Amino acid sequence: MTPKRRMERTTPVWQAPDDVIELMGSTSGNELNGWNEDAVRQPTLVMWANPAKLAHGAVQQRMTAEFMEHPDLRTVLRTDDRHTPVPVAERQRAATPDEWMSAIRDFATSEAGHDVELVGVARPQPEWFFEGRKSELPFVVMLGLAMNHGELATAPEHHSAMEVHRQYNRGTAAARALADFIRSRGFDAEGHGGPGAGPMQMVPAAIEAGFGELGKHGSIINRELGSSFRLAAVLTDAPLVATEPDVFGVDDFCLGCRICTDACPPDAIAPDRRLVRGVTKWAVDFDRCLPYFAESYGCGICIAVCPWSKPGEAPRLADNMTRKRERRAEAD
Ligand code: SF4
Ligand code: SF4
Repeated sequence: MTPKRRMERTTPVWQAPDDVIELMGSTSGNELNGWNEDAVRQPTLVMWANPAKLAHGAVQQRMTAEFMEHPDLRTVLRTDDRHTPVPVAERQRAATPDEWMSAIRDFATSEAGHDVELVGVARPQPEWFFEGRKSELPFVVMLGLAMNHGELATAPEHHSAMEVHRQYNRGTAAARALADFIRSRGFDAEGHGGPGAGPMQMVPAAIEAGFGELGKHGSIINRELGSSFRLAAVLTDAPLVATEPDVFGVDDFCLGCRICTDACPPDAIAPDRRLVRGVTKWAVDFDRCLPYFAESYGCGICIAVCPWSKPGEAPRLADNMTRKRERRAEAD
């Protein structure tokens, strides 16, 4: 097969200022992320943790300081992060896995559960946990929090970052509330929300739980919300049932689209998938993305411009792609 030729972008590529280049240091985030490695392994923590332990912690620190200096952004950053989980009740609630699934869905989508838009369940895999981390809890409940697309579309301005943090805050509150709901019924549960990294990567867990497929921009595309949502998670030993992955043709769509590639100021989104820790997938160039991300309130242009994120578009595109897949299957 003839390799696809990359059409040149028409806009100039953003160049990082010298002080940011200096902060980036000499360690490649792409190498840390396992680019071109053919063995499956646990991911290395690269951002949103103790900056003293991160190769690019200085960039994270500078970004956090800029957030705290901004009068609007400061208001949505969590300053009081304390939460004491309720004790695990001594008596376990007797219910079938299907009844448990209904109970956690009903709670998560209720006002007490912070009106979560997406709920799914996966069995955690060792390679989703960051190096040195693991969990014996057999299920992870994934939660998806819809973002206001009008706010997201202001990226890379600070209103987009405010909406991102509002939804991270809602996700963290939702994960903690659901974990308390489960614990008060006699099962163990830990809630985790962003932007802090937590023990595991949430994107592979959410894909497995049926939230959608990975897009070229490195985020999930969901059949209702596109990429306009954030994630939170609850690890638990409550007797649940894993939900099915949802494949509706995102991969094919991305192969013929380059909207995010062209819109990314530092040209961090490649037109082809690459090998990352034993899996060939879409992967953003961390070393190109991070300097712009840090200089522009967390950017978010790629998920904002993705056609699936435009309100009302994802269901229509998902239907089109599903019909295309069915026609192809019939022809084969
Ligand atoms: S977040 Fe911004 S810089 Fe990073 S890949 Fe997306 S568009 Fe590019
Ligand atoms: S903008 Fe296009 S190529 Fe990029 S993730 Fe969205 S659909 Fe895929």
